[in-house]
Amino acid sequence: MQFTRRNITQLLVTSACTLACGLAMAQSYPAKPISLVVPFAAGGPTDIVARTLAATMTKSLGQTVLVENKVGAGGTLAGAYVAKANPDGYTFLVHHNGMSTAPALYRKMSFNPLTDFEYVSQVVDVPMTLLGRKDLPAKNLSELSAYVKANAKKINLANAGLGAVSHLCGMLFQQALGVDLTTVPFSGTAPAMNALLGGQVDLLCDQTTQTTQHIKAGTVNMYGVTTKQRIKALPDAPTLSESGMKDFEVLVWHGVYAPKGTPAAVIEKFGSALRASLKDPAFTARMADLGAEIVPESKQTPEGLRTWLQSEINKWGPVIRSAGVYAD
Ligand code: ASP
Repeated sequence: MQFTRRNITQLLVTSACTLACGLAMAQSYPAKPISLVVPFAAGGPTDIVARTLAATMTKSLGQTVLVENKVGAGGTLAGAYVAKANPDGYTFLVHHNGMSTAPALYRKMSFNPLTDFEYVSQVVDVPMTLLGRKDLPAKNLSELSAYVKANAKKINLANAGLGAVSHLCGMLFQQALGVDLTTVPFSGTAPAMNALLGGQVDLLCDQTTQTTQHIKAGTVNMYGVTTKQRIKALPDAPTLSESGMKDFEVLVWHGVYAPKGTPAAVIEKFGSALRASLKDPAFTARMADLGAEIVPESKQTPEGLRTWLQSEINKWGPVIRSAGVYAD
């Protein structure tokens, strides 16, 4: 294409207008309630992070931030929904490691985590805990390992679908023991936790954002946390690593995304309110109680999320492919 004076002028006018339109939009933004889409059922760990963030951002933005649960397919239905949403600044996605494991797990992905989104920020990192139903005859990881190996055909493991972190943690647990357990998928680990409390499932690996209350209430058996070090919220909980599953580490990170094409000025305004929320005492106190850690400021940026997502896709792709786990 040969550049003539005329089409250079057209290009400059169009770019100036796009910038001016984006800035004008940002000035009046947000003019209506904002939807924060959560890929899992209400009441679960991702939902707890999102609703706590939404309540704080409603204050800092002066506009209602509503949580919308779009469940299914391990979080990929929500990803596809937001990827195709109007890039007007009124639809955002809160998702976790699932954004980085889905490309290796789903052979027919209807969106690309690396090209179909604008990136806002990371939020919190959350440990996981391996739980058993209260009457499971195993009181620690060593007893559980022996029991699972001896009864693998009878034991089931709940999760929130292929691509959920409960699936990832469960996959690593089975690999560590060399067993293949029956898995029971739910629309999130809120219903999975209800099934565990009701004795309908035997095991569940889930984030401390949901499990801390049940561990403290003594209504489940807790076998360990999935972090390198013990955590302040559950000081008596051993790590799986110290209990014999060396280097067993799963930390659940959370990112906030917008549809590709959302104006940069809007991303900046929403991101600034999000960063203010991460400093809000109500938010930080609740996250600390639930074992969640606010990410450092370097990760509270679009680039901090995008580069982390890329590194996680690079990290988990080979692990998942070597496990031969995928959905067509
Ligand atoms: N904990 C779920 C998972 O395994 C997500 C959720 O239900 O919040 O990914």
